Amino acid sequence: MESLTFKDLNLSKDIERAVEDMGFEEPTPIQSQSIPYLMEGKDVIGQAQTGTGKTAAFGIPALEMLDVKSKKVQVLVLCPTRELANQVAEEMSKLAKYQNTKMLPVYGGQPIDRQIKALRRGVHIVIGTPGRIMDHLQRKTLKLDDVKMVVLDEADEMLDMGFREDIEFILSRAPGKKQTVLFSATMPKPIIKLTKKYQQNPQMVKTVHKKLTVPQIEQYYFEVKDNAKTEVLCRLIDIYNFKSSLVFCNTKKNVDKQVETLKARGYLVDGMHGDMRQAQRERVMSNFRKGEIETLVATDVAARGIDVESIEAVFNYDIPQDEESYVHRIGRTGRAGKEGVAITFAFGKDIRKIKTIQKHTNVKIVRKNVPSQSDVEDIRAEMLSQNVKKIIDYGHIGNYEHWVENLLEEDYASVDVAAALVKILLSEEKK
Ligand code: AMP
Repeated sequence: MESLTFKDLNLSKDIERAVEDMGFEEPTPIQSQSIPYLMEGKDVIGQAQTGTGKTAAFGIPALEMLDVKSKKVQVLVLCPTRELANQVAEEMSKLAKYQNTKMLPVYGGQPIDRQIKALRRGVHIVIGTPGRIMDHLQRKTLKLDDVKMVVLDEADEMLDMGFREDIEFILSRAPGKKQTVLFSATMPKPIIKLTKKYQQNPQMVKTVHKKLTVPQIEQYYFEVKDNAKTEVLCRLIDIYNFKSSLVFCNTKKNVDKQVETLKARGYLVDGMHGDMRQAQRERVMSNFRKGEIETLVATDVAARGIDVESIEAVFNYDIPQDEESYVHRIGRTGRAGKEGVAITFAFGKDIRKIKTIQKHTNVKIVRKNVPSQSDVEDIRAEMLSQNVKKIIDYGHIGNYEHWVENLLEEDYASVDVAAALVKILLSEEKK
């Protein structure tokens, strides 16, 4: 699949600006495939999991076809849970930043009166759970006569939750002439039946799983919430004393943010993303190669040009969109026979993605516990012991033996000498 740019998708200026503000650098594979079909008015079945960018895949075309001057509901998105309805509404509001679009998430558990008032004022896009949408249809507080697009998001989940009849009822209330979009992580028979009944000549889009050659390096993941990622990143860089690490973020915005935060914490860091001019990128690369920058934060697009042999660690600060991106990213370390490590931060739904990546790459990404501050000294001491053993085994330390013997002659015990040296070394590292 060729990769498209957002320019190739011929988006309106308003959406293009919003996408830019969100820091998206290029469409994800599922977006590259779905958006052109949807903009042509076709029905789409998308096999995609959360985290693949599916919300924008249907959200962008939905916003592009709205008539904001009309106050009628024109797009209906059905989601299995209140949580997802809110997430979709949030993502679509960001995409609609420069449009005067009214959106409303509706789900059970929220007072219906408030929803009725909001619907009365005029809403273009309704995002809700099937049960509550049914309620509104039966009360006639929601009309679907002008709906041009219905999206079934996480359709398999909705069927598993027993929403089939509700969905069919809702679809039967929408006009015959409309676009029907269905996204689902899996495609069991009931989903296929649903698409046959309600979609017209749908285009199937899905992420293809290529055969990938995975670099044989150590791969770990840490379960870390968003707000703790920077702290954990710093801790890991400190503990393992990485002199050359590459940190991947999914958006340009996040690259800038991380660079700023890490700089403020005193790290030798810089960033690279698609908005930077070539000369600027080359300067950053050259500084990274020379070791003047120890941590480089980058997006996938920018990192394609990175060719540095001695990167010790790759961090997936944001979990990559799919396994292909994961393999590309981690392939930046462990080059030229050197040891490397790949560390991924994940939380909540990301953990499912780790499992998918493992399945399609056939590798084990080992879960590790986040080291506490008090573990830091133990780990450093352990690494120091490993180094000491290596150096003794390697030999060639005769020149230094004489120096230790001098101390021993002054009646210092060899254990004390070694312990004092460890203390000096560990406190040097902390500086
Ligand atoms: P979704 O699969 O829609 O839940 O999206 C998962 C995450 O990816 C959300 O945080 C989106 O904001 C983000 N995202 C969507 N499209 C892109 C893109 N083209 N580039 C970077 N991040 C994206």
